[in-house]
Amino acid sequence: MIRIAIQSKGRLSEDSLALMREAGIKIDELKRKFLARAAGFPLEVLYLRDDDIPGVVASGSADLGIVGLNEVAETGADVVVVRNMGFGACRLSLAIPKDQEYTGPKFFEGKRIATSYPNVLSRWLSANGVKADIRKIMGSVEISPAAGIADAIFDIVSSGGTLVSNGLKEVETVLSSEAVLIARHGLEAEKQAILDKMLFRFDAVMESSGKKYILMNIPTDKVSEAVKILPAMRSPTVMPLAAEGWCSLHSVVLESELWDKIERLKALGAEGILVLHLDKVID
Ligand code: ATP
Ligand code: MG
Repeated sequence: MIRIAIQSKGRLSEDSLALMREAGIKIDELKRKFLARAAGFPLEVLYLRDDDIPGVVASGSADLGIVGLNEVAETGADVVVVRNMGFGACRLSLAIPKDQEYTGPKFFEGKRIATSYPNVLSRWLSANGVKADIRKIMGSVEISPAAGIADAIFDIVSSGGTLVSNGLKEVETVLSSEAVLIARHGLEAEKQAILDKMLFRFDAVMESSGKKYILMNIPTDKVSEAVKILPAMRSPTVMPLAAEGWCSLHSVVLESELWDKIERLKALGAEGILVLHLDKVID
């Protein structure tokens, strides 16, 4: 049995549960408790506030956790970062009122900076030889310059929309973050084996994201050109059709390149192109 701590409610909870669901680990969310047992996998889920997850893993009260790298950095918890999870992307940035000229890190000398991440900020300030007055506040950091509480802020940014609507501009990115899977040090062999099994499944799910399965009919004399457009995991599958001079070509493509590739394949004479959802990819 292995115990994983995930955020009880917030931006990371749905994606964390979805990943486990996709990996065939079922947790009864209707009867959600503080501690829940998964079905079909030797796993317990501990639902916590995200701030508490790194410490709970470091102390051994949970073996694993899914949490933002920003929280791991802020708590300074001594844990192993096992995987980037591919969701919850954001950054910790410094922002100042938009009408002020930014002159580099020295801008912050003697300034009041509001933040919920005093530890990450103070490391960045020392690394840049700047002395500033850190004001720790837990919520609504972005309104503090307008409210006269601070001269600048250090906060989580994703699209940047919140900064703009508060008359601020981002001037330094200090940490790029996403959700990470963390583990405590020194997992026993039995738990490590369960973790390896989970990772195998998580990797298959993550590997499939952003990819599509594509198949089409194509004249046999165009196959070699089509293969150049469609480099697959090893190489595309080509199967002869009953109709003379035609083949069926199967491959996996990145969703971001899908339409461009389809246009090029159509120009080569491809017909009956099907694009299918890809559930898992096991390398
Ligand atoms: P909790 O109640 O668990 O303490 P919270 O309010 O501290 O929740 P959320 O707002 O749910 O936290 O954010 C959880 C994590 O999601 C953040 O720590 C960060 O890693 C990530 N994240 C991604 N985009 C954003 C964003 N735009 N704003 C805030 N967090 C974001
Ligand atoms: Mg929190």
